[in-house]
Amino acid sequence: MIRTERVLHLKSCRGRKVRVVREHYLRERVPCYSALCQAGCEHRDAKVLPANLTHYVVPDVGVVVDYLEVLEVPELQGVVFTQTACQAVQHSKGRRQYNRLRNLLKDPRHDCVLFANEFQEYSYCPREKGERQEKWQTRCVYSAAVWYYNHLAGVKDVVMLTEDQEAVAQYGSLNSGVYVISVRDFLQNFWPELQAAHELYSSVSQALQEKESEASERQYAEHLPAELLEAGIKSGRYIQGTLNISKHRALSEASITAEGLSNKNSDLGSGVLVSGTKNRNRAVHGDLVAVELLPKSEWRGKDTALAEGRGEEPSGEGDRKPMATGRVVGILQRNWRDYVVTFPPREGPQPQTRNSQRILAVPWDHRIPKIRISTGQADALQDHRVVVRIDSWESTSLYPNGHSVRVLGRAGELETEVQTILVENCIHVPPFSEAQLREMPVNSPERPWAVDPAQAAQRRDLRESHLVFSIDPPGCEDVDDTLSVRRLAGGTRIELGVHIADVTHFVAEGSLTDLEARARATTCYLADRRYDMLPAVLSGDLCSLLGGVDRYAMSVMWELDAQTLAVASVWYGRTLVRSSYQLHYELAQALLDGRRAEVPELAGLEPAERDGRLARLVSALETLTRVARHLRAQRDQGGALELEGVEVRAQLDEERNITALVPRQPLEVHETVAECMIYANHWVARKIQEAFPHQALLRRHPPPRQEFFSQLVDTAAAKGFTVDTRTNKALADSLDLAEDPRDPLVNRLLRIMATTAMSQALYFSTGLQAQDQFYHYGLALDRYTHFTSPIRRYADIVVHRLLSAAIAADRGSDPGRAVVSNKELEETAQHINNKNRAAQQAQKLSTELFQCLYFKERDPQADQLCLADAVIYSIRDNGVLAFVPEYGVKGPVYMKNREGQVVAVGEDGVCEWQSGAVRRHPDCITTSSGRGTATFRLFDHITVRISVRSTHCHADALSLEVVSNEPHRRAATAGAEPQPPAPARSQSRGSSQLVREVVRLAEEASQQAQEKAARRPKLSREEREFSQTKTPNLYSLLEEVRELALLDAEAASRLCATTA
Ligand SMILES: [Zn+2]
Repeated sequence: MIRTERVLHLKSCRGRKVRVVREHYLRERVPCYSALCQAGCEHRDAKVLPANLTHYVVPDVGVVVDYLEVLEVPELQGVVFTQTACQAVQHSKGRRQYNRLRNLLKDPRHDCVLFANEFQEYSYCPREKGERQEKWQTRCVYSAAVWYYNHLAGVKDVVMLTEDQEAVAQYGSLNSGVYVISVRDFLQNFWPELQAAHELYSSVSQALQEKESEASERQYAEHLPAELLEAGIKSGRYIQGTLNISKHRALSEASITAEGLSNKNSDLGSGVLVSGTKNRNRAVHGDLVAVELLPKSEWRGKDTALAEGRGEEPSGEGDRKPMATGRVVGILQRNWRDYVVTFPPREGPQPQTRNSQRILAVPWDHRIPKIRISTGQADALQDHRVVVRIDSWESTSLYPNGHSVRVLGRAGELETEVQTILVENCIHVPPFSEAQLREMPVNSPERPWAVDPAQAAQRRDLRESHLVFSIDPPGCEDVDDTLSVRRLAGGTRIELGVHIADVTHFVAEGSLTDLEARARATTCYLADRRYDMLPAVLSGDLCSLLGGVDRYAMSVMWELDAQTLAVASVWYGRTLVRSSYQLHYELAQALLDGRRAEVPELAGLEPAERDGRLARLVSALETLTRVARHLRAQRDQGGALELEGVEVRAQLDEERNITALVPRQPLEVHETVAECMIYANHWVARKIQEAFPHQALLRRHPPPRQEFFSQLVDTAAAKGFTVDTRTNKALADSLDLAEDPRDPLVNRLLRIMATTAMSQALYFSTGLQAQDQFYHYGLALDRYTHFTSPIRRYADIVVHRLLSAAIAADRGSDPGRAVVSNKELEETAQHINNKNRAAQQAQKLSTELFQCLYFKERDPQADQLCLADAVIYSIRDNGVLAFVPEYGVKGPVYMKNREGQVVAVGEDGVCEWQSGAVRRHPDCITTSSGRGTATFRLFDHITVRISVRSTHCHADALSLEVVSNEPHRRAATAGAEPQPPAPARSQSRGSSQLVREVVRLAEEASQQAQEKAARRPKLSREEREFSQTKTPNLYSLLEEVRELALLDAEAASRLCATTA
């Protein structure tokens, strides 16, 4: 080893110059990470460059700094990142870009490696006196390229990429086998077909050129350097938090939310308002920023009026309670992601130029500022949705600069819009790769899968001893849970078993399938399709506990006292099961109710045999029901919230629009299955938390903040109900009483509000929270986790591994790698929480998309389907918020329009616009006009006309206009009594029909387009590849019901768009 000294003159990303002297040790042995190595480099478990590539690529510093995205294109394999280049990225681009590079290096799906060239004795070249840093770095990278060529004995050509033309001239012909070329030449020569890389390259290089020719007039205050921000936050001068831009007033209103703000300063309880774009100072929605408070005299309030059309300026009315107001002084961490934009339609004659043009593209998300893009395809891409990335936002530029990444398709087309929703929520669901699928076990008619005798020997075999069955929605393919129940020990004990698909047997930790499942974190359900977390061979076959076949399971089995149902003992372990019956809910309920029902598994048996088996099954179902009732009663005493009844179905109305599919009377068997799953989740949570007190993955549901309940309490009071929110039990009891016998919607809406006020349930690592924080408020359990759906949720996979480790530890063997550090587990928990939120958001947006497409086809003035009954659930300054049960739509209904006219009510309740005034009261809003005074109260039923408000650049939105202050007639005639919405729902157009109709129209349109023209852009092929499984909507939505039956407050929250 040779010791030298190395002097570095670095420029930090904030522009400071730093001189660093480092001791530098050179070694002969620095691993090359190539499969071709003959020199005996130590690679251990590291990723190595495969042997079958035609060449290796060594990008120089400039290429890695500016064109990392191009190098990320998965087809570009065999990339060697030098230490020199990595350090340069860290210093000149900051942590974000550096992390991106590190993630690329870690990603096993990408054949690229890091070479520590500056530690390699023969590759390292000391900097010469007077040599410019860039030149020296280029020389280092070239030297590394040459080293590779020589180290691999010339069997592999090496291509060095550089944008420095001098370097091309200087090094280009120095060594045969080592090519030095520009990125453009490289792509043209080696990857002429790789369109995506070419487009990305030209779009990034254009953005770079534009940046050089930027104007210099300052538009924003400079950001403070990192050291000052850090010191300021410590001293309390600045407040650190995430910038949250108002959806409805994107230009004017933003706020900072930060945990713990209210503890320090009571003024900051509701966050800090950042008003206007200057004060926002180039921070983008989601960025972590530092704000300085303005003097109290400049504090302002949030606007509580309904804003017509999103992203518009406020009306200036409304009571604004001043709140802490500040301005952004620096950005601690950018949270830029990929954004979908639309190029605005351009007016006037189009300039006849083939050069690139600078265009202000409008992001789909209202909260994101316009992004300046340079492109040569501005005309071709009009009306298309394009994915872009932001590169920079200088203080001299009104808008951020960015470049385009790929084209999604024509705006307004179903596939484009669905892809937009996915990109906007950072949901990346490419088809499973071949390499991943190669990890999968085979189960085909030629090679049927069979139980491995070694596994059978290790597992508790329940195939003969236990009657195992599943209860699911009809047509369910992925059965991840089954049940068993039987009498033991002469009838003094009952054994209850929950048997869950043993997914972790098939998905090894760290395998490609595992990494992909982790990245997805959850199966993602959209209105018309789903994206599975696991490949179909697992989710629909080998992991699915189907009837009549042998399957591996993870089981929890309790021995309960037959009388008291107290737990005598619990057993956890791996089992071998064969489910005897695959029941669906209605069938199971029919059996319990003693109704005649056909059990398919018993068809064709001799009557005596059949009756005997049937009796055994019914008896098991009855015992199960009794146990579940007991468990439920226990939780009720603790204050479990009754949210899985009516109101969850209301939730589904909101977000999933599922009304027509759910039976009006919830079946008890739903609850029975849910209760057993909750019980299993709870006991597994206990087990892993006791085994690993500091690194178990649990799920907590924090109690809600009381102030969030004010709307619920006030609204209920308007109907004469008292809602007590002090404890979960008080809340549950008072919600049960808040029932208007004439209008079941009242109770539903109150429960929606209660759910909206709730916090989200979250995964966390037990090392991070005190044990009293583990509590699950909604379920009234001291510990909870997710164990029962490993096919569809990654959290359950983590929990299965922890449970296996705990079982291994009980036996005295090594728990293995499953037990990660608290910090690592917390990262996983955060990741899953984020992904779940994104999946829910995408689901909500896709439902809205389908609602809009449905109404887009209709003429709101002529089509009777555009008229519907709505109920008022919130009063605002200039209108009300209303809920349309028939379509599951929620939105503002204006009582005053932009022209200042108000809703006047004539005879028969017919409404029209007239000049007048509106006045808001606590529980009603009144309009006065030439026709007199009209009052709209909370919970009033009105008739609205639904139409689509189309915008070119954003998602379409539905708009509601009041046409009568009477309930809609079609609904009102449904019963003798005025109880419109509930009975109407049975005949309502639920989501399935709506989705089917829209899909059919979209398919027809696409077929016509294909027939018409072969010159259709080839965009759609790519888009279509993203969708994997199109399933009947019914199934996925019913699956969700089951999920919700387990009371995921997370899924059930964030419904109302109410902010005030
Ligand atoms: Zn080697």
